[in-house]
Amino acid sequence: MSPEKCPDCGNKNLKIYQQIAVGQVVSAKTGKVLERKGFLEVTCWNHFCKCGWSGELETQ
Ligand SMILES: [Zn+2]
Repeated sequence: MSPEKCPDCGNKNLKIYQQIAVGQVVSAKTGKVLERKGFLEVTCWNHFCKCGWSGELETQ
């Protein structure tokens, strides 16, 4: 469920915080990053407002 406006202050310019998954190849021996695969997907997100309100965390 995506809120259209902030339930606290009525602001309609909500922002969305996205937590994303990235892929990378690391050396099993050293843990050093050998190759970065970049962005894969958004794993979860939540709406938030400049007033401090934030919505529930949503997942795919
Ligand atoms: Zn607000």
